[in-house]
Amino acid sequence: MAAELVVANGTAVLPTGAVAADVVTGEGRILDVVEPGKGRAARIVDARDRIVLPGGIDAHVHFLIGFMGQRSVYDFHSGTVAALRGGNTAVIDFALQRRGRSLMDGLKHRRVQADRHVACDYGLHVIVTDVNSASLAEVPAMAQAGVGSFKAYMVYEKEQLKVDDGPLHDLMRAAGREGLLVGLHAENASIIDQETARRLAAGETAPIFHALTRPMIAETEAISRALLLAEDAGCPVHIFHLASGPGLDLVAAARARGRPAFAETCSHYLALTDEAYQRPDAHLWVMSPPLRDAAVQARLWRGLAAGELAAVTSDDASYSADAKRLGAASFATTANGVPGVEHRLPLLYTHGVLAGRIDLMRLTELWSAWPAQLFGLAPAKGAIRPGADADLAIMDPQQKRRMDASCNYGAIGYTAFEGQELSGWPVMTIRRGQVAVEDGRYLGKAGEGRYLARTRPMLPPLGP
Ligand SMILES: [Zn+2]
Repeated sequence: MAAELVVANGTAVLPTGAVAADVVTGEGRILDVVEPGKGRAARIVDARDRIVLPGGIDAHVHFLIGFMGQRSVYDFHSGTVAALRGGNTAVIDFALQRRGRSLMDGLKHRRVQADRHVACDYGLHVIVTDVNSASLAEVPAMAQAGVGSFKAYMVYEKEQLKVDDGPLHDLMRAAGREGLLVGLHAENASIIDQETARRLAAGETAPIFHALTRPMIAETEAISRALLLAEDAGCPVHIFHLASGPGLDLVAAARARGRPAFAETCSHYLALTDEAYQRPDAHLWVMSPPLRDAAVQARLWRGLAAGELAAVTSDDASYSADAKRLGAASFATTANGVPGVEHRLPLLYTHGVLAGRIDLMRLTELWSAWPAQLFGLAPAKGAIRPGADADLAIMDPQQKRRMDASCNYGAIGYTAFEGQELSGWPVMTIRRGQVAVEDGRYLGKAGEGRYLARTRPMLPPLGP
């Protein structure tokens, strides 16, 4: 194959370590990794004083979603452009099965929304909301369609999302037979619904009550239940957006016993605490699970350092400041979530590497390598290695920027990380050998991303 583009003279983070190297690419693949100055091709990108990472894989984003009439700013085009600006070359979004409909309906519907619009590659987790003999019988076909993982909600009955324990156990058995992963939004519905009803009855509607009605025990208990059900069902299990220290202890203990039990946390839990709920504009930080205290945050960072967590995701939900304000009269009507798909890298680099909590290798694992393995994208993605897709993020470790609303692509009007000075910004993103973003500008067209048919999780993928 002919070399087309060389990323020269950078510090490339390979699976074996960070080395000064030229990364040679052609026909969308990485062809070779050679000594600095030795790479030859028509185009040379100079990456001197830059760090060259595998393209980010954000395994948890929500583009083109709504909440009580509010729409996310990002659709599949703008969201995937934002992802690329953040150094990501692949994202995994969600396809929702509506109750009474098939899993395949949900998958096809979402692909129609995405396929012709995406700027980076993408996959879909299928959200199962209606477990019955027909949907269980579709599980093998989902694997054929490139869905390596499902998601189930243990909360949100009103929204017609919640899956009760019996059906969840059934889903886990069916997924387990196929070697597929079941991921959970793990919170205890009964505790949350009861606390919410009490607070609302007392007129306690401020954003702080969002956090108080979703106490950590609600998350911890649901994680515990999910792990037990999955273990009995013989199913690989994943906890989405983990924000509970005791919950992480349970996941780590299950893994230590050899169980295929995994979890991710999100960049906002690592960079923010529940002090945000004291702010006058606290509605902007309404998300589920809510932000926790500094002790939980420290536990999450220890978990990342120890290899107890498989990924850091953004859980990007790009409701604008205006959209969040519209529902701000009560925490129960505030659109949940914060945007973050562009900022995983500087957040992990600043709060992780520069703060001495994790090293660059672990950053790379959490940023790309491990989610690629867990969510069935390896070996094509997740590593700088000959034969892999030429997906690269070139990061400037010196570049510093103070976060404000202008840091987000599109008219979101705020950032959850307001005021933080972050280092380690992506300056160029290369998608399958093409320069897709340079200095924040998208150079491609809509629909140049591809749907990623994912395989089963690679087990056991992780850990030191
Ligand atoms: Zn989410």
